Amino acid sequence: MRILIVEDEPDLLRGLARSLREEGYAVDTAADGEDGLFKAVEVNYDAVVLDVMLPRLDGWEVLRRLREKRKTPVLLLTARDRSADRVRGLDTGADDYLVKPFDLPELLARLRALIRRSASEVRSVIEIGDVAVDIAARAVSQKRKPVVLTAREYSLVEFLTLHRGEVVTRTQLYEHLFDENDDSLSNLLDVHVSNVRKKLGHDFIATRRGHGYCIEG
Ligand code: CA
Repeated sequence: MRILIVEDEPDLLRGLARSLREEGYAVDTAADGEDGLFKAVEVNYDAVVLDVMLPRLDGWEVLRRLREKRKTPVLLLTARDRSADRVRGLDTGADDYLVKPFDLPELLARLRALIRRSASEVRSVIEIGDVAVDIAARAVSQKRKPVVLTAREYSLVEFLTLHRGEVVTRTQLYEHLFDENDDSLSNLLDVHVSNVRKKLGHDFIATRRGHGYCIEG
């Protein structure tokens, strides 16, 4: 899953990006509204974390212009004690909001919920054959035994699981699993697919020649 964070406070931006990467998300960042809008329109992110008070273009304007192009889930970061802001945010098309200062676990939980909702997934544990993917806990088990995946392997499994039954193209996977700072994407993807197959069985991820990959639902 690939997230864009638009935040002009350098420490908060860095801290959030690091925490989300530790959770296995691919993370892009923007330090002002203009750059944020450009990236949010350009890339099909799984979610955008958007601060309201931003230089160049404020969060409201970013959200308004983004909504003309994309339905990407947006989590708005609003100032304390500004309930008018929260109402305005939801009216403008934000999917959720969080009041600063916030707890990191709460931000992570809301992001997971947003991503799940946008995939129209109501359950947090999805079973595929003998494999169970727990999206809330970001954990995978097989025959009820935990399977240890790296953060990126988990992201690959999660993305394919949320799109189970569909063929997911390599291009989609590059877009959702890797961020603007990752390189040699092609090699990485093959390595991750191969490692997941070693851990969950070769047939867990099917290759569709010339098209991409698929997990049967
Ligand atoms: Ca700000």
